[in-house]
Amino acid sequence: MTESGGGTRAEKIHRDIVRAILEQRLGPGTKLGEDEVGAIYGVSRTIVRAALQSLAHEGIGVIEKNRGAFVAHPSVKEAAEVFQARRLIEPAITELAARACDAAGAALLRAHLARERQAESEGDDRAAIRLSGEFHVVLARIAGHKIYENFLRELVARSSLIILLYRRSRAQCCKIDHHGALVEAIAEGRGAEAAAQMVSHLDEIERDLELVDTAIPVRPLSELLGG
Ligand SMILES: [Zn+2]
Repeated sequence: MTESGGGTRAEKIHRDIVRAILEQRLGPGTKLGEDEVGAIYGVSRTIVRAALQSLAHEGIGVIEKNRGAFVAHPSVKEAAEVFQARRLIEPAITELAARACDAAGAALLRAHLARERQAESEGDDRAAIRLSGEFHVVLARIAGHKIYENFLRELVARSSLIILLYRRSRAQCCKIDHHGALVEAIAEGRGAEAAAQMVSHLDEIERDLELVDTAIPVRPLSELLGG
């Protein structure tokens, strides 16, 4: 995002859209009309375009010639590929996190876990879903590996779309007990064990998906963004 003067605003739009996806408010295939997004945020098309292009680069959005931009609609094949990629990098991230985790890192993980538990006990599904995805990104941050962190941020956002499309039930993507066990293993530096737990955690998320083609109702952007 190098648009002069528009970077910050384009980044905010980008961030809001990703957040809406992580909270599963903004579904796969939703049209992201330039004029509509521009009106919601009170910005020019140029700024909106910069935000939409960065989403497309990350595979979270798609831009179709003469049709405009949409939230991506991952296919069954892409869904399988996203989980393959996660199974490849997340055990590595988990091992690195276990190695790098100091008292501050452990406190950060436990605080995040507490927020996940609170959201769940309050029945705040949107926050619970977003926080459960962010947990994985926090691990990459503790691992201190920027490339993994950025890559994972994209994979987690794509996973949210995939879960929204393909989940068997309303159950959320991550089990907090799994996250709790991971936090303890990482905080105690048991890297190999934590990495194995991560693989079975991801396997379980994927098992809860029904990888067949589906469609979901699309709602107007004005109900989903801004505010
Ligand atoms: Zn998880």
